[in-house]
Amino acid sequence: ATPTALLVGTGRGAQLGILIKGPEILEQTRRVDTVVLDKTGTVTEGRMALVDVVPVDGADRAEVLRLAAAVEQLAEHPVAHAIAGAAHGPAEGGVDRVEGGVDRVGADGVVIGADQVHDFRAHAGHGVSGVVRVAHSGIDLSRRVLVGRLGWLRDEGVATAPVEAAVRAAEDDGATAVVAAWDGVARGVLVLRDPVKASSAQAVADLRDLGLRPVLLTGDNLGAARAAARSVGIAQEDVVAQVLPADKVAVVERLQSQGRRVAMVGDGVNDAAALAAADLGLAMGTGTDVAIEAADVTLVRGDLRTAAQAVRLSRRTLRIIQ
Ligand code: ADP
Ligand code: MG
Repeated sequence: ATPTALLVGTGRGAQLGILIKGPEILEQTRRVDTVVLDKTGTVTEGRMALVDVVPVDGADRAEVLRLAAAVEQLAEHPVAHAIAGAAHGPAEGGVDRVEGGVDRVGADGVVIGADQVHDFRAHAGHGVSGVVRVAHSGIDLSRRVLVGRLGWLRDEGVATAPVEAAVRAAEDDGATAVVAAWDGVARGVLVLRDPVKASSAQAVADLRDLGLRPVLLTGDNLGAARAAARSVGIAQEDVVAQVLPADKVAVVERLQSQGRRVAMVGDGVNDAAALAAADLGLAMGTGTDVAIEAADVTLVRGDLRTAAQAVRLSRRTLRIIQ
């Protein structure tokens, strides 16, 4: 391979919004036969919208949103931004306001300040927890609030029976459902949706045309994963859901052990290890710095179609050279 031709290839990539870390990456790109796609932020917009709040067992809908938002305002996750944004009313960044949003946040209409939250913790792939101080008829109370996946809350010893049916219904409908609990009892379900990017279906078709097999990988529930897969044309047997951040890399390695040459496309902190382990890592330029650093290629515009263009470019460049 002549260095000049490789440089021309990487230069052409840059024009297309495909930043390739070194000319040798083109060879790896040409060889991949499987492409693992992270769901949230890669195939979908990564901007969750809170579409419903379902209180259970006599809990107050506004109180569920208010306490969940109090803790989520300290977190960095699309789920967290959607919940905190809805409680604070219409926000920039396309966060939808839940019906009856801000006016229903507590009888007094006050959003709980971040300074009223103590012992905040983000539990990767699970949810968040914190102790929230709330004033109730002049009395200060502290509530230990958890917001996250149903299975995680159950493992934490929360009584989840009251929310199970509502969670299942939302997930079967292709939504992401997280549960808010305080003082050991599940109080409500927050239902979120994250639309698939307009270009994702075409991108999957392009990848298939190049002979690559797309696999969808996510920490989200199976219902939401299947709905996203269906709308972009990924086979149901190629959906891997409810994968903890630390286990995404194991999914890549399993495919490699089956003899596949794996490209991974992702955007999150969660995806960094898998991006590094893959034969080729591609990060969305719209994603986190951690993902971009771990990857071999950056798709500057965050458009999944440029992943297919990268493969096409590498094949063309190396065909000319050989
Ligand atoms: P993904 O692979 O879709 O980016 P993650 O591994 O980050 O997903 O999270 C998996 C699941 O954990 C989410 O779908 C959600 O149910 C739950 N979760 C993660 N972070 C939060 C949070 N800040 N608040 C509530 N739930 C969360
Ligand atoms: Mg993601």
